[in-house]
Amino acid sequence: MPDCLFCQIVAGKIPANVVYEDEHLLAFHDIAPKADTHLLVIPKRHIVNLNDLSDADASLMSHLMLSLPAIARTQNLTGFRTITNTGKEGGQEVFHMHFHILGGDQLPGF
Ligand code: 5GP
Repeated sequence: MPDCLFCQIVAGKIPANVVYEDEHLLAFHDIAPKADTHLLVIPKRHIVNLNDLSDADASLMSHLMLSLPAIARTQNLTGFRTITNTGKEGGQEVFHMHFHILGGDQLPGF
């Protein structure tokens, strides 16, 4: 998706501080961190958000969810918060699905 910011990061056209990469996923530091450590985990393939998923994405989503703790551990996080914003009303600003990993300090209860 040429106009998509995160697709451009996947393509290496926009720099990012990458902490994890595999065939399907990329994880990098958020440019405006909202916690001591703030990562974004994205599928390399352009998916808008959770509303855009189908049964065909079950394996990818399983892989993404199961990868989150290992990605958090690259930053020595044992406890962390995971958020995904879905749609404008859900606070989504970048329309390429991403999971925020927040941690590194004591987060308040939700
Ligand atoms: P959303 O509000 O869509 O859930 O979150 C988008 C996130 O992307 C925000 O936390 C924002 O700081 C981050 N972000 C926006 N532009 C860039 C960028 O160019 N590079 C990186 N690494 N993060 C970005």
